[in-house]
Amino acid sequence: MDNLAIPKNTIEIIQKYNFAFQKKFGQNFLIDPRVLEKIVVSAGIGKEDAVLEIGPGIGTMTRRLSESAGRVIAVEIDDHLIPILQETLSDLDNVTLIHNDILKVDIAKLAEEYNGGRPICVVANLPYYITTPIVMNLFESGVPLKTITVMVQKEVAERMQAGPGTKDYGALSLAVQYYAEAEIVANVPPNCFMPRPNVGSAVIRLTRHEKPPVEAQDEKEMFRLIRAAFGQRRKTLVNSVSNSPELSYSKEMIQAALGECGFSPTVRGEALTLSDFANLQKSLHNMIDK
Ligand code: SAM
Repeated sequence: MDNLAIPKNTIEIIQKYNFAFQKKFGQNFLIDPRVLEKIVVSAGIGKEDAVLEIGPGIGTMTRRLSESAGRVIAVEIDDHLIPILQETLSDLDNVTLIHNDILKVDIAKLAEEYNGGRPICVVANLPYYITTPIVMNLFESGVPLKTITVMVQKEVAERMQAGPGTKDYGALSLAVQYYAEAEIVANVPPNCFMPRPNVGSAVIRLTRHEKPPVEAQDEKEMFRLIRAAFGQRRKTLVNSVSNSPELSYSKEMIQAALGECGFSPTVRGEALTLSDFANLQKSLHNMIDK
């Protein structure tokens, strides 16, 4: 099978199967061999690695990953792509195709089954409509991870790297900071995809920290606090957190905890760093215990 990243080869497969791109699945296939190479090389995978590919499309990246990795597990949601993938991947014996929604797959179980529970690498040209839930789910579900190398909307890559006080700073920035080291390895223009997306894209590599940069007393509660603080980012932290259905702190408690951490009662979430959120969560926890 020829390199599917060459536009004429992608077109040939699409026409052969009369495939219609589905917007609802975020289908923008990669048609640039240099970008494909850059993603796989940046992912730094070797024959000792198992790779999870989310959304293989017609198998363009899957084929290239299969050359470098020991095993590739590709999860595709679209029924219409399965017969295509069965053809394009038919000569590869280290690729497992799973027909499912990635948000419904038990990824930790896959890592156990295909990699003996050792950390896996995730490589993908992600469907943009669910980038954030996919990345958050990978981090929060405790899947053993080595790296995540993914194509995302440029704006999302920027959000992943943003710091306090900027407009891009939010729950995703803090989750990425807590769990990984982030590096943008390429900027990718719309003409590298078929069909062309309306936005620019970027490849970002997230390398999991061995130990998070701050010590959270209760990681899950800290992220509930973070989500609440940015859920209503124009409001003060006291208002947004006390309104959160996920949390049950009174305004007085939040004000007192903020005071303990050295913040004004009118501060907004966007002013707080990761370490501030960790401290705030500890203070709130101690108040409940008293
Ligand atoms: N990897 C291919 C490439 O680079 O050309 C396709 C990338 S395309 C941006 C996103 C892919 O993810 C599509 O194949 C789409 O059908 C698939 N997809 C969308 N939602 C998904 C989901 N919830 N679970 C698994 N795959 C999904």
